[in-house]
Amino acid sequence: MSERVISLFDLRNRPAAVPATPIPATGLLGDKRGRPLRDLRISVTDRCNFRCNYCMPKEVFNTDYKYLPHSSLLSFEEITRIARLFVSHGVQKLRLTGGEPLLRKNLEVLIAQLAALRTPEGLPLDLTLTTNGSLLRRKAAGLKAAGLQRVTVSLDGLNDTIFRAMNDVDFPVADVLDGIEAAKEVGLGRDAKGGFSGLKINMVVKKSTNLGEIIPMARHFRGSGLTLRFIEYMDVGETNGWQMDEVLPSAELIKLLQTEFPLVPLEASAPGETAQRWGYANAQGVFDPRLGEVGVISSVTQAFCGDCNRARLSTEGQLYLCLFAAQGFDLRTLMRNGTSDADIASAIGLIWNERDDRYSELRGQNLQPPPVPGQKRVEMSYIGG
Ligand code: SAM
Ligand code: SF4
Ligand code: SF4
Repeated sequence: MSERVISLFDLRNRPAAVPATPIPATGLLGDKRGRPLRDLRISVTDRCNFRCNYCMPKEVFNTDYKYLPHSSLLSFEEITRIARLFVSHGVQKLRLTGGEPLLRKNLEVLIAQLAALRTPEGLPLDLTLTTNGSLLRRKAAGLKAAGLQRVTVSLDGLNDTIFRAMNDVDFPVADVLDGIEAAKEVGLGRDAKGGFSGLKINMVVKKSTNLGEIIPMARHFRGSGLTLRFIEYMDVGETNGWQMDEVLPSAELIKLLQTEFPLVPLEASAPGETAQRWGYANAQGVFDPRLGEVGVISSVTQAFCGDCNRARLSTEGQLYLCLFAAQGFDLRTLMRNGTSDADIASAIGLIWNERDDRYSELRGQNLQPPPVPGQKRVEMSYIGG
């Protein structure tokens, strides 16, 4: 008898079952903890031109690394179809990510298809993208013309030496800053008040590497109309050798910022918002909108699982219910075996109804489930941030 070889795909994925009783798309789906489904993050490629050591360390993502073959990737038509079904279940926000999403060929075509989707109430979706910014100068105008509204650019520092070391491919910081300028020039993220609140800058802080970049980054973006957000370095995936002593808790980061800039807490902008907002204050200690705001994303020290309304679709069409999940649900097979839209929507409904994930909350209480032998947590570059 021949031995069955278990592929990585099998280990990572469970079939998505179509329930016997249909689960209609009412937009009111809730998981086991009553959390709605509002936000879908779609990874469009597992490849990247950077090798940030907290995400795709060179030692692992080298020339021997097996990226997904093109036939595994969802086509633009498949992504749009699945996005439409998620929207029928209540998703209002779509974020394209990766890997580096701007490496996916003809991404503008996908953007145009997604921009044409409407919620059941007939409203356009909040459509955005997270990028390392390296290709933005070349791509910004085309993305905007295709219907992209806003963009988040990852930038871990302004010091060129530190930045080149963090991306680990010697990419100059000036080119990312120029990409951000290009995004501004075409109006990506411009708000009704003429600011750029939809143009966000994400900085992951790793204590040993870019602690000294926090104040210069804040100084650079304060008053620029752009929103800078600091992200705690997370233990996502299995390859980045994460250690707690590399994490700067957001509470400490805010204290550090306040040594230079007075800050006042601001209300969350939307339910399920991952960032806590702080506004720059004027001499009277009152928030000054002209100076803008910063955000902190405390994924490690202050879990926000309680209102986590995000689902993630991997590059090959697997649905993940949590950033820290080891397994996804295989929606690609349903799409490729002739299953109807109504049945796929039902399968998505069942998966979300059964969702109980709250990894960060459990980790905060030292209660996270023990690892299942043979299963590895999925990498950020595979399901996207
Ligand atoms: N390549 C794009 C980029 O860098 O913006 C999109 C994909 S990247 C995986 C999405 C976001 O995840 C980035 O802002 C990145 O800084 C963040 N990220 C990756 N690994 C992380 C980690 N271990 N902890 C916290 N954030 C991380
Ligand atoms: Fe690439 Fe983004 Fe990961 Fe950096 S964080 S390696 S840019 S996918
Ligand atoms: Fe959501 Fe999982 Fe993060 Fe909790 S740990 S906020 S459930 S993605």
